[in-house]
Amino acid sequence: MSITSSTPLKIDRIVLRRLSMPLRHSFTTSFATFTQKVFTVVEVWSEGLVGYGECAATEFPLYNEEYAKGAYDVIRNILIPILKKEKNIIHPSDINRIFSPIRRNYMARASIDEAIWDLWSKREGISLAKALGGTRRQVETGISIGIQKSPDELVKIVKNSLELGYKRIKIKISPGKDLAYIARIRSEFPDILLQVDANSAYSLDNLNLLKQLDQCDLLLIEQPLAHDDIVDHRFLQSQLKTPICLDESIDSVEDARKALELQSCRIINIKVARVGGLTEALKIHNLCATHGVGIWCGGMLDAGIAKAHNIAIASLPNFIYPGDIPPSDRNFEEDIIEPLPQLGSDSTIVVPEGPGIGFEINKKNYNKFTLDSEAISFS
Ligand code: MG
Repeated sequence: MSITSSTPLKIDRIVLRRLSMPLRHSFTTSFATFTQKVFTVVEVWSEGLVGYGECAATEFPLYNEEYAKGAYDVIRNILIPILKKEKNIIHPSDINRIFSPIRRNYMARASIDEAIWDLWSKREGISLAKALGGTRRQVETGISIGIQKSPDELVKIVKNSLELGYKRIKIKISPGKDLAYIARIRSEFPDILLQVDANSAYSLDNLNLLKQLDQCDLLLIEQPLAHDDIVDHRFLQSQLKTPICLDESIDSVEDARKALELQSCRIINIKVARVGGLTEALKIHNLCATHGVGIWCGGMLDAGIAKAHNIAIASLPNFIYPGDIPPSDRNFEEDIIEPLPQLGSDSTIVVPEGPGIGFEINKKNYNKFTLDSEAISFS
């Protein structure tokens, strides 16, 4: 039987690998300092092809409620058994529907969704970017800088980042490490594209401070208020001229619809992992395009596989702001894909044109960073 677009995917097995990769520099946000990345890779094997997904859940449930060990358990003992019963996966968007009865657990779901999208694109012989409807040959990236000990320290790092070629600078902030830092950067570098990310560290009690940040000519202020809020953000947006960008508050296209109707933000950061995968990310992309709201692709200190998925989705037309998709060497000495994405002179990364994610797995590094693995047969 020849394989056509309407032939159901026959999954032979899924391999789960737990990896640990040291970060090049520790990375501090308003909720934690990270020194290593511990995560799971999902390999979906089908008739000689393999699709890869990377689970973004962090070691502790601080960004959202998911955490690496818990996500592994959900993938292993809940999602894979559901998938095993499904005999009619024609298109990767079927995964979103199949997992829809499961509440939340978006990062666990996304890792399988990504792997199936990669696998399906490889079977079709097209790039993942093309499968998703991407139109850009290059995607713009900025750099995300963690919280530093002093404004002086931050100035040095921003200067270095600009010298490396990054055109958009994002700075993590938290109470006490905010206005003085950002005002200093703005006075040193008056013309750069600058934005901040609070990771939910503020409340409306901090309205005065947020109004002062509003004077710093920022591209956007990302997730200033609670991780699950769109009501206080609505009030805050009405008080600021700077666009609010929601990250943690948007877990689905329904969340996005409500936030846009309320005018709780003017920009949305899409993280494939946070919203349960590429299918949901596409829905949010299309909804925002309909509303004339621009989006960009966020990051989760991604290793190569998630980065490849991010590059693909960021090639869609409504990703109009630079993403957090820096080359691997921003966060890691070594990565698990090859060839490594490179930063172009215009702060861009080339979208690969090969089948699927368009990168090979670097077997040596992949094995070196693997803590353990298990194969789950579908036969
Ligand atoms: Mg963020």
